[in-house]
Amino acid sequence: MFTKKCHQFFEQKFGFHKVLLTTSCTDALEMAALLLDLQPGDEVIVPSYTFVSTPNAFVLRGATIVFADSNAENPNLNATTLESLVTPRTRAIVPVHYAGIACDMDAIRAVADRHNLTVVEDAAQAIDSYYKGSPLGSLGELAAFSFHETKNIISGEGGMLAINDARFAQRAEIIREKGTNRSSFFRGEVDKYGWVDVGSSFLPSDIIAAFLWAQIEQLDTIQERRRTIWQCYAQALAPLREQGVGLPNIPDYATNNGHMFYLVCRSLSERTELINSLKGKNINPVFHYLSLHRSPFYSERHDGRSLPWADHYTDCLVRLPLYYELSEAEQQRVIEAINSFYQHR
Ligand SMILES: *Cc1c(COP(=O)(O)O)cnc(C)c1O
Repeated sequence: MFTKKCHQFFEQKFGFHKVLLTTSCTDALEMAALLLDLQPGDEVIVPSYTFVSTPNAFVLRGATIVFADSNAENPNLNATTLESLVTPRTRAIVPVHYAGIACDMDAIRAVADRHNLTVVEDAAQAIDSYYKGSPLGSLGELAAFSFHETKNIISGEGGMLAINDARFAQRAEIIREKGTNRSSFFRGEVDKYGWVDVGSSFLPSDIIAAFLWAQIEQLDTIQERRRTIWQCYAQALAPLREQGVGLPNIPDYATNNGHMFYLVCRSLSERTELINSLKGKNINPVFHYLSLHRSPFYSERHDGRSLPWADHYTDCLVRLPLYYELSEAEQQRVIEAINSFYQHR
């Protein structure tokens, strides 16, 4: 069973208490929201600069989202101002390790522990990355990973829930298997299985797990190649900082898993010109999230606070091509195109 092999691999390599493969990170987040037993009106703190699945999982359970702003240094949730967002109705904090770079987890854990909140890490981009030596995904009670084709290791669509607080382990199995105790049945712990809770079908087929296993076998090779590409961008483009262009900042407490390399342009118009200029050379850089507190769905529900850093990354961040198969020659072409764009400004 490849599913079991994958579970054991992640539990052993990263020290998670228990792992369950899911059909996506979105599903893993939805399982986390179910495990929290959220009641309508309960509040969950989520960065505005993230993928929609991060807050949507909790909105599905009737929660109110309190959006947090990003750091000036990087798009991660600003932990310094986090505590001011906590109210008596707050239940959880969902830090997103953007680009696989750790959030300030000591500061986040301190706020969570003071107010008895659950931390659910959105570690979708954060496989094999670390905070002060601890694997990302091991620092929250729960953590969600993605194996979507855009991530470091992939299974087309896929994800996993890491459960670090043993209290959630049994119920997580039940929720994942349509609200039944089928997992206990297969371990011989009960003599028949039935409907014991709410749930859904969050488990992938073993064929997906077999695909993922093949990726796991190549994990170190993939990570090394991605980090090499990342370092090459970082070195070649470092001089752009002098012109006021932002490059990824990795705090001392964090590692780099080579998930993503991005630039932060000085303005929206500069970013648009850069993207168009590169597209003219058959290179396809892409911007990323649109602040969710200003989204068509949530803007009317948002409490009205402005979140300037989330908006800044919305307008100015651009991701450069970074994938295992990217050749050195192709990468040089990207670097030259960017340098020539900035030489003429
Ligand atoms: C990719 C991603 C998701 C969604 O992952 P899926 O596996 O596609 O559901 C959620 N959050 C973040 C931060 C992501 O990067």
